[in-house]
Amino acid sequence: MQKINNKPPIANGENKGKGIFLLLSILSLLLVVFLMFGLWYLIAPRLGSFHPYFSLAVKIFLGLCLITISGGLFLIVLSALTERDFLFPHGEKQITLTVLFPINLILGRFFGLSKDQIRQSFVAVNNSLFKATRKRISPERILILLSHCLQDYDCPQKVTADYRNCRMCGKCQICQIIELGDNYSTPLSIATGGTLARKVVVERKPTVIVAVACERDLTAGIQDVYPIPVYGILNQRPFGPCINTKVDLKEIEKAIGLILNGRQ
Ligand code: SF4
Repeated sequence: MQKINNKPPIANGENKGKGIFLLLSILSLLLVVFLMFGLWYLIAPRLGSFHPYFSLAVKIFLGLCLITISGGLFLIVLSALTERDFLFPHGEKQITLTVLFPINLILGRFFGLSKDQIRQSFVAVNNSLFKATRKRISPERILILLSHCLQDYDCPQKVTADYRNCRMCGKCQICQIIELGDNYSTPLSIATGGTLARKVVVERKPTVIVAVACERDLTAGIQDVYPIPVYGILNQRPFGPCINTKVDLKEIEKAIGLILNGRQ
């Protein structure tokens, strides 16, 4: 099979790409503030005519939204940059990222960034927040969740039904990941897509997930399974997307070590 010269991901589990997402988030927040003030400027004269308190109620609501998103982003930036837990006990991480993420994608396009560059950066930010909050993560039920494109394309074994169906032939990295999981008594699951991955998470009820997938699946998965913490590892695609992909095994081992040693 011919190798495709695929650029390595900028954030392959490391912190080096997180600046893009953090900067875009700050710009997105400024845009949200600008739009909110614009909206207020347009509707304020009419609100007072409904009821004297209505205008005040809307003002308080918009103010609270801004405080929640800005406060959440400030704590996220601080935690992501220092990898120290400034998020506790706030729960704004998801609200902030859910609101800002789609705006980041639009703004990123404006600056000539691809969706995958922004997603890589999001994964890097997520992993930094994971490290920052690791003392609060329970290692009780760790799940290694793999994208099935890691399996050799010609392999007939139904590893998505049960990873123990792998014959450990060494043709792809599935067998090495199984051995790694066994060393740490950590089960794994191989999913063919987001729907199956969500089903596995519902059934297994993991307390923490180490996930290996492409930018799109990782980004969606991290947001879907919240509040379960996910350490994301981007796959490598020497033959192009979705076929015979690879992963840096050291990254998986590092993530498991982080989870097991997090509370020490
Ligand atoms: S290592 Fe397992 S999954 Fe990979 S090709 Fe061999 S039998 Fe198939």
